[in-house]
Amino acid sequence: MESIPVEKNEKVTVSFTDLTQEGSGVAKVDGYTLFVPGALPEETAEVQVVKTKKGYGYGRLTRLIEKSSLRAVPPCPIYDQCGGCSIQHLSAQGQLDYKRRIVTDALERIGGFSGISVGMTIGMADPWKYRNKIQVPVAAQDGRFAFGFFKKRSHEIVNLDSCIITDPLIDKIVQTARHAAEDKGIEPYNEAKNSGVLRHIMARSGRKSGEVMVVFVTRTEDLPHRKALIKELTENYPQIKSIVQNVNKRRTNAILGNKTKTLWGRPVIYDQIGSVTFAISAQSFYQVNPRQTEVLYRKALKFADLTGEETVIDAYCGIGTISLFLAQKAKQVYGVEIVPEAVKDAQANAELNKITNAHFETGKAEEILPKWYDKGIRPDVIVVDPPRKGCEASLLKTMLAMKPQRIVYVSCNPATLARDLKLLVPGGYAIKKVQPVDMFPQTLHVETVALITRVKE
Ligand code: SAH
Repeated sequence: MESIPVEKNEKVTVSFTDLTQEGSGVAKVDGYTLFVPGALPEETAEVQVVKTKKGYGYGRLTRLIEKSSLRAVPPCPIYDQCGGCSIQHLSAQGQLDYKRRIVTDALERIGGFSGISVGMTIGMADPWKYRNKIQVPVAAQDGRFAFGFFKKRSHEIVNLDSCIITDPLIDKIVQTARHAAEDKGIEPYNEAKNSGVLRHIMARSGRKSGEVMVVFVTRTEDLPHRKALIKELTENYPQIKSIVQNVNKRRTNAILGNKTKTLWGRPVIYDQIGSVTFAISAQSFYQVNPRQTEVLYRKALKFADLTGEETVIDAYCGIGTISLFLAQKAKQVYGVEIVPEAVKDAQANAELNKITNAHFETGKAEEILPKWYDKGIRPDVIVVDPPRKGCEASLLKTMLAMKPQRIVYVSCNPATLARDLKLLVPGGYAIKKVQPVDMFPQTLHVETVALITRVKE
């Protein structure tokens, strides 16, 4: 076994060269990797080793010796404890540059491409207050009503008075709901015993519509004092259009259960992306940064370069957000999605907008596209927006067989984007555009939209 050059509790001075997805600085000690939360590339610091494993170890920052010029003071008072954000200590420009570099590195190291110009990451003028959804755990902690996010890697709740990356209106509304629930003596959930009543308070807002939904997630069918809760909320916030209760009886980390009851108002709120209206229920998947979602979809639309004559496939279509956005400019759109409820939402959203040229099917993209191919469907443009693990190789093969003029790849993981482009490009395509968009400021999530165009007949 190779020896480990550091020991637990030892203090060492190290220089940082990289940053992980979780926001830890990466340093090498004689080739041995140390991960240190809160440290940034180009910094030198004294760290105390807290844990050593065979190939790598963890350290705690004890003294910063050389600061990065990109270091920022994190404005959130619970930043060190909460697991939500990971790079508030990196300046806004530093975050954008870093995200661009992650994409370039992936294309070079994993994709084997060189000389590709990756666009500057499109950021937000105000990279705070962007989230249109907040879901806060409620729990009995030391016999008290605790409300806040979980500490990193733990089930202990850190008290939350405000979340600065969330829309201030819903941030305030969940606090009103929390205090009303606590004042009325509604019993918080006890995870260990799977007892108690209130598990989560969630709120979502429509950025353009201004509408708000409040969701009380309970373990029990009954929600005591619900009339008082409704009164408190609706009297204070005319923006609220929907108050629902979701019942989750199971002992699980999943927030929502299967049953949702409308307590007041409608079961859904509405919001618009571009000019397309979406109905959003408690359970619907909907992008959490609406402003940047529109930026991303506009890029995808631009890359798709539609004239009104094209047949388009949107694989991994979710509730049809991209499909319906593109349908306005295409002849026909085919969307495929694995989750049946999402496909129902997509169909309902098409109807809501009187869009008749979008067709949705439930299934795996890698199984449905070959069927469409056999039926003779030959798309001019294929859009994919897969989950982190990227596309199945068999799907990429079918895409190549379909010979679309353009493929627009929307990706939430630069590594799988690079891997998939490495398979697509030799099939007769050239990389034309690669554009990172910052959908999740203060975190290291990177969203990219890439355009590849057909170069062979
Ligand atoms: N384009 C949508 C959703 C993208 S998220 C939007 O922007 O809102 C990726 C989606 O792919 C999820 O909805 C997930 O349920 C779906 N999915 C995952 N694996 C799939 C597969 N093999 N085939 C089709 N859809 C899949």
